[in-house]
Amino acid sequence: MIVALNGRKLLTVVALLCALQLTLTFYLLFGMSSNTTSLIDFTVVIDAGHGGVDCGVTGVNGTRESHLNLLYSRQLGKWFEQCGFNVVYTRTDEGGLYGLPTEGFKMRDMEKRRQIIEDSSADIVISVHMNKYSSSYRTGAQVFFQQGNEEGQTLAQSVQDCVNKLNSRNLEALKGDFYITRTSDCPSVIVEFGFLSNAEEERLLNTAERREKLTRAVFDGVMMYLYSL
Ligand SMILES: [Zn+2]
Repeated sequence: MIVALNGRKLLTVVALLCALQLTLTFYLLFGMSSNTTSLIDFTVVIDAGHGGVDCGVTGVNGTRESHLNLLYSRQLGKWFEQCGFNVVYTRTDEGGLYGLPTEGFKMRDMEKRRQIIEDSSADIVISVHMNKYSSSYRTGAQVFFQQGNEEGQTLAQSVQDCVNKLNSRNLEALKGDFYITRTSDCPSVIVEFGFLSNAEEERLLNTAERREKLTRAVFDGVMMYLYSL
């Protein structure tokens, strides 16, 4: 069976088997706290949105999006690292990527992220954000992809399907035009993990339990995507 697979499918099968085996092994031996070096030649770039003077959106009770993005990115990265994937982070602390916060800092910040993605030879990119709406009723995670990018759409819908199960929703991944997804050569998605404009969702998003469940759902969505290739 293996010899009939092309290189990409073989990589996918190997990645999936390694992921399943390593996940089980680490659960049994080390719990959730162990780090590994990369065992799989597949690079996942995790992009924590905003940072520094750009805190993104602010929750109704004061949560800074940039702070939550960092926490969610670290947790998401751990799932991949524990399964032997190579993980590259665009941002690992609360600071921005723009140098000095002078005029044009936002564009410098985005350009730096693009450069990190390009230099890493990324296989997929996941950009991590939190949402906000003018009314408080909207809740739930929403996944976006670059319009016209079929692979990105497939990846986005796979991730959306997994977070939908967690939220008991039936949302579709949404297309758009975003700097990170437009300038990435590989399948890339933006995950808005929830709405900080809803007080209850803001509270939940700040809990470790919610963070672990949502990031795990995103990880599962990526694995389902790889399995489908
Ligand atoms: Zn954002």
